[in-house]
Amino acid sequence: MSRVDDPEAVDLLQQLIRNRCVNDGTVESGNELRSVELLQQYLGTSGIDVERFEPQPGRASLVARIEGSDPDAPTLMLMGHTDVVPVNEDGWSRDPFSGDLDDGMVWGRGAIDMLNITASQAVAFRRLADSGFTPRGTLIYFAVADEEALGTWGAHWLVDHEWDALATDYVLTESGGFQMPSPHGPRLPVMVAEKGTYWSKIHVRGTPGHGSQPYRTDNALVTAAEVVRRLHEFQPRASIGEVWRRHVEAMDYPPEMRDAFLDPSAVRDFCATLPLGMARLVHACTHTTFAPTVAHGGTKTNVIPDHMELEVDIRTLPGQRGEDIHALLREALGDLYDAVEIESNEDLSTESPIDTPLWDALTTVTGRLVRDSALVPFLMVGGTDNRFFRRAGAVGYGFGLFSKRLGFEDYATMFHGNDERVDVESLSLSEQLWRAVAEELLT
Ligand SMILES: [Zn+2]
Repeated sequence: MSRVDDPEAVDLLQQLIRNRCVNDGTVESGNELRSVELLQQYLGTSGIDVERFEPQPGRASLVARIEGSDPDAPTLMLMGHTDVVPVNEDGWSRDPFSGDLDDGMVWGRGAIDMLNITASQAVAFRRLADSGFTPRGTLIYFAVADEEALGTWGAHWLVDHEWDALATDYVLTESGGFQMPSPHGPRLPVMVAEKGTYWSKIHVRGTPGHGSQPYRTDNALVTAAEVVRRLHEFQPRASIGEVWRRHVEAMDYPPEMRDAFLDPSAVRDFCATLPLGMARLVHACTHTTFAPTVAHGGTKTNVIPDHMELEVDIRTLPGQRGEDIHALLREALGDLYDAVEIESNEDLSTESPIDTPLWDALTTVTGRLVRDSALVPFLMVGGTDNRFFRRAGAVGYGFGLFSKRLGFEDYATMFHGNDERVDVESLSLSEQLWRAVAEELLT
């Protein structure tokens, strides 16, 4: 029953890639309006009800609906972002915005994150509308701007200001569904939770002086270097959370691997034996992580600096709060903890339950589309727009479907990386998934 090619989804993905909605974090970037106009044109021919929101010039998002007949039936949202992260063209073997189709692969920035899904969801939505789909529950398609810069002019803004247009019980968005081999058939990860962020600025103070006489000076740069070193070497205790435990138990890992993954005193050492991509992921799923990423400070070669500002990307596990992170920072920095000033921006981890009608619908549908497969819950270590909807009370999962042609390591390295591309069978599988889940859940 599964088609391997879907020219309509391929064509739409190519056009989304060529629109270059590159989000560099500034409000002037992105220009998602280009892709909103494309999608509006694509959906509009089917008489679908489409609304546009544009909180800043060019930062447009689109909401399309197929209204359900029963107000008590659940609402499902298919959500895809239209922006992409910048590229370094030197690392690519072809033009990152060509949208070339070659040997069954569509190339370009966004092919995996996540224009592939944004495109396949739109195609599924339009096919349902064209087929006269009259569900009991409402189906929403949401093409959203600015995901790559914290959702400021996208999901965050719209959930706060336009909830009436977005209210939903269930959300499906990036990212999961790549096939993880197991002895009993492919396992398909569903992102049911994501880690939080606790991005921090650490201010390090010193005393200014002349660079020609450094003896016994209080140099903020030297202290900052020690802060960075301690953060980098800090090894917080592992924590085996509920989602991770359920994931490991569902995965059919070999027994010694399973035991190590579930043992907080063994998991870090075990990571050293894994391929690097997997090691990083397992480590991040079981630890609070601290990555010093930016340093600012100093004024002139001959001036001992009196102030440095460090930025640290801290990722928190489900259930952790600010005070937990400060306890870890105190442990990491030791005597320097009280000597610095820490400013943080807290965005807590979010989670959805797995005993839901959406989980059941995904189980039924993926059972038909991918032979011998089973769903496994997974913890997303990055952030997605799902967090805004989970906080508003919806059940949000990150999912999609990929063919066997893209393994986990390919998938992981292409995210925000070079030579991003997706195969046409994956597009077709995802399109069938969205349609079948809508039919399963809403009729
Ligand atoms: Zn994304």
